[in-house]
Amino acid sequence: MTSFWAEAAEPQWTASPLREPLRCEVAVVGGGFTGLASAYHLARAGVDVGLFEARELVSGASGQNGGQVLLGWPRDLTSLAHEWGDLVAEALWTLSRRAVARVAQLIDEEDIRCQWRQTGHVDAATTSQEVDALQAEREWLIQHGHQTAVWWSADAMRQRLGTPYYRGGLFDEQAWAFHPRQYGWGLALAARRHGARLFSHTPIIRVVQHPGPTYELVTGSGFSIQAKHVLWATNGYLPPGAHWLRGRIVPVYSAQIAVQLAEPSALPLDLPTVSDTSPEYHYFSRVGPDLVIFGGRLETHARRQGDFSPLEDQWRQLFPTVGSVRVTHRWAGRIALSQDFMPHIVQWAPGCWFAGGYTGHGAALSTEFGAIMATLATGGHVPGEVETLLKLPWRPLRFRRHWRPGARATIGDGRHAPLVRATIRV
Ligand SMILES: Cc1cc2nc3c(=O)[nH]c(=O)nc-3n(C[C@H](O)[C@H](O)[C@H](O)COP(=O)(O)OP(=O)(O)OC[C@H]3O[C@@H](n4cnc5c(N)ncnc54)[C@H](O)[C@@H]3O)c2cc1C
Repeated sequence: MTSFWAEAAEPQWTASPLREPLRCEVAVVGGGFTGLASAYHLARAGVDVGLFEARELVSGASGQNGGQVLLGWPRDLTSLAHEWGDLVAEALWTLSRRAVARVAQLIDEEDIRCQWRQTGHVDAATTSQEVDALQAEREWLIQHGHQTAVWWSADAMRQRLGTPYYRGGLFDEQAWAFHPRQYGWGLALAARRHGARLFSHTPIIRVVQHPGPTYELVTGSGFSIQAKHVLWATNGYLPPGAHWLRGRIVPVYSAQIAVQLAEPSALPLDLPTVSDTSPEYHYFSRVGPDLVIFGGRLETHARRQGDFSPLEDQWRQLFPTVGSVRVTHRWAGRIALSQDFMPHIVQWAPGCWFAGGYTGHGAALSTEFGAIMATLATGGHVPGEVETLLKLPWRPLRFRRHWRPGARATIGDGRHAPLVRATIRV
């Protein structure tokens, strides 16, 4: 199960494990986009920061995702407006735009070569209920000054995407794509250049809070790290002893294949990035002249056995006329489904923060959340939109006490329920 992205040449430098006790002002746990963005911003502000990653840097969801860098949140803005009011939805919309802008700015300022490109994105509908929901979303966006959301009919979808599968879709040219691993590595190198100390293969297995408060983190090899602040950036890999989070996040896997087309023109050359909310939650994009990556849900037992044939069947169902293809890569990565389909930033002890729960929509938000955690840890000022986000309640999963290995459960708000009809790992 090798990721398509793993083929990219890695930088000359690789992080080493921590081999001695260490003291720093801020300890960041997790070396994906969230943690690296925190470390980057802290180091730029002159803070003494250490980052500790259990495996290789950028080897979690950040190095395995679909590379779609999208505005918005895992939930529709209309559903956010419905639950919390228009003002909250507007604030969150502004924050998501800032997240994408920050990624673009970082890539530019730090000269990160990661195939950054504007692709446009289409949210694709498979049912008439979904058509109605997306059309309502378009109205909301236009009413709130975002004029680039365009409705594509079923015919337009067939022509623009090369599949008869969809009943319509909401296209927005304001969407980008990148090579996630190259972006993550670029972020790591930039953080290091600014003075962050980054360690790989250094799992944090225990945290002790001392009066002060200060924290002592213990690594898998038994070394001790003393820090004033701890930022947890572990997303779907929950921190040790994090019972509170376990009640709010369900780790699930999303799987992808890379498909080589025998005939590149079998699919439109200007294919935008695509995602849908069918029960399989497909997403796909072109990543080369004859290459498409295609993702979706794969049952746990199939993934464990390395059997990607159900996903390959879904590809054939979507693209019955594309003809012969070769599947060159198959891989899966862990996402963090949040109870309310929203990522959150929470302070769970003095000086100790967690950011995550991106629900499969964190390519841009994770960079923003990392930056926000860095600001919060150093007592900096956050804008009103962030205050709004911090005030959102994060209720526990109601079915938590019924969990058992292999249990199936549905959470969410109806429209999104299919995405989380997932087999839960405990
Ligand atoms: C297959 C897949 C496709 C996706 N596609 C998209 C997409 O196209 N667009 C989009 O917006 N989002 C997508 N996402 C979601 C996006 O990738 C994530 O939201 C984002 O990368 C989260 O970043 P992160 O840094 O918070 O988490 P991660 O990248 O998962 O990083 C967490 C890190 O913490 C480390 N860690 C955990 N516990 C410890 C510990 N105790 N000690 C030390 N280290 C620890 C882990 O090893 C891991 O490296 C996708 C996700 C997956 C899995």
